[in-house]
Amino acid sequence: MINIFDLSKQELVRWCSDMGEPPFRASQLTKWIHGKGVLDFERMSNISTKFKGLLLEHSRILIPEIIQHQKALDGTSKLLLKLESGEMIESVIIPEGERLTACISSQVGCAVDCSFCATGNNGFKKNLSLGEIISQIWIMNNLLGPAKITNVVMMGMGEPLLNYSNLKNALALFLSDDGYGLSKRKVTVSTSGVVPFIYKLKEDCPVSLAVSLHSGNNDLRNKLVPINKKYPLEQLMEACWEYQKSAPRGFITMEITLLNGVNDEENHAIEIIKLIEKYKVSVKFNLIPYNPYSGGLFETPALKRIERYRRALQGAGQIVTIRKTRGDDVSGACGQLAGSFLSRIKQNNGPKDKIQRLGVL
Ligand code: SF4
Repeated sequence: MINIFDLSKQELVRWCSDMGEPPFRASQLTKWIHGKGVLDFERMSNISTKFKGLLLEHSRILIPEIIQHQKALDGTSKLLLKLESGEMIESVIIPEGERLTACISSQVGCAVDCSFCATGNNGFKKNLSLGEIISQIWIMNNLLGPAKITNVVMMGMGEPLLNYSNLKNALALFLSDDGYGLSKRKVTVSTSGVVPFIYKLKEDCPVSLAVSLHSGNNDLRNKLVPINKKYPLEQLMEACWEYQKSAPRGFITMEITLLNGVNDEENHAIEIIKLIEKYKVSVKFNLIPYNPYSGGLFETPALKRIERYRRALQGAGQIVTIRKTRGDDVSGACGQLAGSFLSRIKQNNGPKDKIQRLGVL
């Protein structure tokens, strides 16, 4: 029995055709399920009784179970969701003015193992299916009632570009008028720098791109974002230069998690400016003061260090924002998502080993 949430648009058209139904049935189903949030086939008024019978007999709709819904003082909500496999993922709803941003997970755990990230510290378990990705936004819209998610950031647990085919199909549904109807500007994929898939995303679905940069020199970035050893900064910058030609806003967001005494000096900012200028990449910087979590190795820089770093970038004519820490009282802030409640993945590195490996503290 197929889970309708796991079918891409093309697969749903094919499945409807296998059931003897015309292609437009796929569009009708998508509108009901994703556009209107209706899961009960009986309520789908333009679906024939015969097709409803086939749907009941041959399909199911499976969405993760909400195990916990925590609300932070600033209105940020963190959802702990249980998958059919028993594993847990976390997703976050961030309200800001008119905007309701969904921070969506793409994997259980993450293999990239960035040194400052709670998710990476827990190792990699599995890629989320299309249904498991898309149901996060479905669940959020269902909880929000008449309000709807306005923006999506693929910045939850996992490296989205390492789950590319499911990501691509999920993006198609986020953007589809039958589905969630979001514009490319309002959907952001965040990557640690998986260069080949940056090129693929540009061809397939050039939504907004955010790159977790963190450092402008390979030695330090190798330690902070180990995938840099495979795709060093030179390759990453060339990919960004190509991508910006198709980026919805014409620029790439560069995320810099500021770690006290590690990458937050003025000279670190200058290194990054030189890199950006050398490769002529149009960027907007987003500074993220490190969010501490239990077992984390780093400290948050003092405000004056953050401000000094910001001034160094702004002095070079760059646009810089400092991300407000959202939801940190429920560990829903950037780098804090770990799915830590019920299905803790065995830690692949104890903090002590990691400090030795990093050699940056
Ligand atoms: S920051 Fe992103 S890519 Fe790096 S370990 Fe965490 S989830 Fe993975």
